[in-house]
Amino acid sequence: MQKTAPNTHADSPKPNSAQLGSAPLLPADSEESALSIRLKQYLKPQDVEQVWSAYRFAFQAHEGVVRKTGEPYISHPVSVACVLADLHMDVPTILAALLHDVVEDTDVTTQEISEKFGPQVAELVDGVTKLDKIEFQSASVAQAENFRKMLLAMSQDVRVILVKLADRLHNMQTLEAMKPEKQKLIAQETLEIYAPIANRLGLNDIYQALEDLSFQYLYPMRYRAISKAILAARGNRKEVISKILDSIKQQLLTLNIEAEVSGREKHLYSIYKKMSGKTTTFSQIYDIYGFRVVVKDLPSCYLALGALHGLYKPIPSKFKDYIAIPKANGYQSLHTTLFGPFGTPIEVQIRSTEMHNIADAGVAAHWLYKSSDAQLTALQQQTHQWLQRLLEIQSESSDSLDFLEHLKIDLFPDEVYVFTPKGTILALPKGATAVDFAYAVHSDIGNSCVAVRINHELAPLRTELHNGDHVEIITGSLAKPNPAWLNYVVTGRARAHIRHFLKSQKSMESAQLGERMLNQALRALHVEPNQITDQQWQKLIRDYGLKKKSEILTDIGLGKRQNVMVAHQLLALGEVQEEPSEGTLGKFFGKIFGKSTKKPLDTITIRGSEGMAVQFAQCCRPIPGDPILGFINKDKGLVVHTHDCPAIRKFRLDPDKWLDVEWEPENQRLYKTNLNLTVANQPGMLAKIASGIADAGSNIDNVSVEEEDGSAYANLYFTVQVRDRVHLAELMRGLRKIPDVVRINRAKGNTTGNGTKKTSQ
Ligand code: MN
Repeated sequence: MQKTAPNTHADSPKPNSAQLGSAPLLPADSEESALSIRLKQYLKPQDVEQVWSAYRFAFQAHEGVVRKTGEPYISHPVSVACVLADLHMDVPTILAALLHDVVEDTDVTTQEISEKFGPQVAELVDGVTKLDKIEFQSASVAQAENFRKMLLAMSQDVRVILVKLADRLHNMQTLEAMKPEKQKLIAQETLEIYAPIANRLGLNDIYQALEDLSFQYLYPMRYRAISKAILAARGNRKEVISKILDSIKQQLLTLNIEAEVSGREKHLYSIYKKMSGKTTTFSQIYDIYGFRVVVKDLPSCYLALGALHGLYKPIPSKFKDYIAIPKANGYQSLHTTLFGPFGTPIEVQIRSTEMHNIADAGVAAHWLYKSSDAQLTALQQQTHQWLQRLLEIQSESSDSLDFLEHLKIDLFPDEVYVFTPKGTILALPKGATAVDFAYAVHSDIGNSCVAVRINHELAPLRTELHNGDHVEIITGSLAKPNPAWLNYVVTGRARAHIRHFLKSQKSMESAQLGERMLNQALRALHVEPNQITDQQWQKLIRDYGLKKKSEILTDIGLGKRQNVMVAHQLLALGEVQEEPSEGTLGKFFGKIFGKSTKKPLDTITIRGSEGMAVQFAQCCRPIPGDPILGFINKDKGLVVHTHDCPAIRKFRLDPDKWLDVEWEPENQRLYKTNLNLTVANQPGMLAKIASGIADAGSNIDNVSVEEEDGSAYANLYFTVQVRDRVHLAELMRGLRKIPDVVRINRAKGNTTGNGTKKTSQ
């Protein structure tokens, strides 16, 4: 049974420049194998035994599968395990490395791995398998950044990304057997996505190896040219480095400055980047020789700087004082570039032990202060420990400047990363819903969204999005933002757009109502609305200090101006005269001073479709059929009450505050109203009543129950939806027939003003 290996995996016949992990030549579980030697350095014998059992399991699962070069497939997971053993990763990580391809490439299930090696290992393998499935398409830099964040966010457990990086490293080391175009694709992805992640995690060796390998496949000619140049320059390089090291140490010692001095070397790709960025030639690259000096305190930094400037001449424009002016992430150091002994420029970083420690603790602090509740999950604490340990292991080669510059690295981000239908990645705050997504794409999409497909399945708009979700918004041409969205959107953008829409919607509705109110006031004065000229309107708008007619109409609808007053003022501004029977002026002043020469205005019909411009009072909850009154409230606009509502009793005497309104016949809307029931306190009553309400074709909007301990009776408060009084009467008749319903009545104008004493949600 010869199966073909997945084509991202290939083996090179000879190992190349980056030999981390190094391919095993012996059976991995034999004494002298590469993996065996590495494991014995830091694991207990029983742990090593556990690794071998996973090795045998993977060996069997991949048996018969051969990589492109003819090597058994198992060589790949073993090499991945070697890379991670070099980092002294824990046992579950090594097991996951050995098993990382079995779920994807063989019949083995995650369940089986969980049973054999524990849920932790299974989760790690599952995490790696999931990462393999998301594909990076877009080539833009911002997208690459989002994609990296998404990978990190999806990994959850930092060990998943470590296995993935080791996996990618070995695939890069064995890329030679692949077709050239495939090589280029994989190398590009490695350079854009995986190398930066390794860099952020402080995995310096892996980072540099990934970059150099990618460079080699993307630009083979340039790679060869620079390798050759390095090789030529390297002849006496070691000697040069140790000579410089010695002189620096000697100089500091002479001046009694305690210091630890170490050298560091730029890798091939970073030399290339410097060359291409600044149009410098290879020999001009300044920082091929790099050193770090760590001294005991801050003043010693400047002493050491002086000492070094005394030893070698500094290049003037190259000095940076990050102690006086720390970097945004808190990084402190002195950077200077010197003319070395053989004309070679050398770059030196000088910092105090404290700065060095704060740098590391800064990383720690980042993790520790990350969660605002100061409550870290066990996973976060572990992650912190792993990263600390990785840093310690790598302290020789790790450049903590690189690490710090990427301090913002976020394994537990406050953001989620999701795909748009076009494959673009959007970053949204954690907890963001489909509505937030819609507004993030475009305000028009947000304003007209009706539903969403998440990973190709329909879902409600309030659905919270998760990392890697593929989100597609469905819009409707008549759809409008819903005030309820404000309860769950988390982005300011969505909130602002919804609010803005609702506000303009309200003023539009108010303007329409205001126009009807004004027209009726005009007709009461025997003037047809179209007799009012533009000129009259313009004058009035100017007199009021406003800009648009609609503002006046909105004010009327909202109760901020009286329709009668506006009508009279309009007339006073024009040639259009009222009926001559009464003097215009007399009537005008009569109105103003409340003399009751006023004959009642025509009534406003309530259609129920006025939206937010008309409100139905919650105290009495009027329904069609009830005699009603319109009450002009300065904040709420027109509020409709029943005639007998106790809440408005005191205003009845003040006719200017209220308006005659009536129901428009034939209106099919449902209205909320309140019912109080007293029932025998026994199980199942609520259900019986609820089904009685449903039988009458009504809906329950709200219900609350009040029962006294030991009482034989309970009070139920319902808010139900009915068409009108007839409908309500039918409903109540039906409910009365239910045995044990003692009393039922419509609740109107309770002292609390909202009809029910107690409401549930
Ligand atoms: Mn693999």
